[in-house]
Amino acid sequence: MKKTYTKLYIFLGLFAIGAVITIYYLQSGPKDQPIIVNDLSTNAEQEAEEEIVREVFGINANDFEVTENKVKSGESLGLILGRENVDNLKVHNLIKLSDTVFNVRNINVNNTYLLFHDKDSAHSLHYMVYLKSKLEYVVFDVSDSLRVFKNQRKLTKTYRYATGTISSSLSQTMLDQNLSILLSHRMEDIYAWTINFFALQKGDSFEIVYEKLTIDDTIDAGVGNIVNATFTHKDQSFNAYSFQSPEGWTEFYNEDGRSLRKSFLMAPLKTYRISSKYQKRRFHPVQKRWKAHKGTDFAAPRGTPIMSTANGTVIKAGYTSGNGNYVKVKHNSKYTTQYLHMTRFAKGIKAGTFVKQGEVIGYVGSTGLATGPHVCYRFWVNGKQVDPYKQKLPDAEPIKKEYLDQFKERMTELSSLKDSLIAATNE
Ligand SMILES: [Zn+2]
Repeated sequence: MKKTYTKLYIFLGLFAIGAVITIYYLQSGPKDQPIIVNDLSTNAEQEAEEEIVREVFGINANDFEVTENKVKSGESLGLILGRENVDNLKVHNLIKLSDTVFNVRNINVNNTYLLFHDKDSAHSLHYMVYLKSKLEYVVFDVSDSLRVFKNQRKLTKTYRYATGTISSSLSQTMLDQNLSILLSHRMEDIYAWTINFFALQKGDSFEIVYEKLTIDDTIDAGVGNIVNATFTHKDQSFNAYSFQSPEGWTEFYNEDGRSLRKSFLMAPLKTYRISSKYQKRRFHPVQKRWKAHKGTDFAAPRGTPIMSTANGTVIKAGYTSGNGNYVKVKHNSKYTTQYLHMTRFAKGIKAGTFVKQGEVIGYVGSTGLATGPHVCYRFWVNGKQVDPYKQKLPDAEPIKKEYLDQFKERMTELSSLKDSLIAATNE
């Protein structure tokens, strides 16, 4: 599908770049090296001048007529170039040249490519640029000097601040503010051990500082990670500061350097409603008699992923008429958990499988003695069945002593970043 030049001009405008690089380019032609992008102030000055130089993938787009296309099913590099009247010998040599740079057989259907045609009457093809991914691209120079080179677009992180008060759900509140749904997922991950997002209260609120990603300083590439968050639930605030240890692990800690993770997740589901608590005596809804309920029932739609609440080894993935499909996980010599009534197990879950905390082990169902889709979550301490919500369960490791100073520095940095973002919002 070819777009018109006019439409593309707008598209190319996104790639506006300073004159310095362009002059450099005009003298030497595109090089196989990272693109240097001017800072925004220089761009602004450049915009004011009469002729705006537009650079696309290291090529001065003003010299060419550029069209954007998508690779169609069955199309190869040879086919595309052949259609552009590039002769067979050239195509052959170009493919040979690309051997060490890019395997042309890996051109994917639906990926974007751009064609740069000369503006003269011959209108011959000069460059083809194939986008391998959002960031990586390959340039095929089919002019007299046949060349193939790959390069990367520049990914920039800037930071944004957002705040909101919950009216119905976190995701709805974020949606109302046009914030990416990814941010609410990330919040749920950060607070999975602390807050039940299904039981939020009106008036609960959040503040976040997150990464905004941009390609070549102009193209929106969505959101990155949350680096700092505060969630206020029932007037209690929970701070989370991201910190990357020198070993490379990124974790969230509170202001005391305590991990937001616990050794056990609050629940085996991401969002849930507790339909029946652990109790000594309850009237069994299926068996119609009084008996102990030594588990916690979490109601959720059929097929909702069930997660192991801690690292451990699956010791049983089986079926009984009461439990239905169930999985039992041994976490260490002290703790064991069990998950009942699954509609099915997750792929690869069987006795002996090691599972990580938060890893999906099965899906909510109503197999066995169950009135509706839910997961019955059972918990053993030293072989005795207990109510996990009445136990003092261990915290995850706090920040290592030797990194405490670094963490404090990071916390100060994040706090002043947040302050400056708030100040900018209020200007
Ligand atoms: Zn139950």
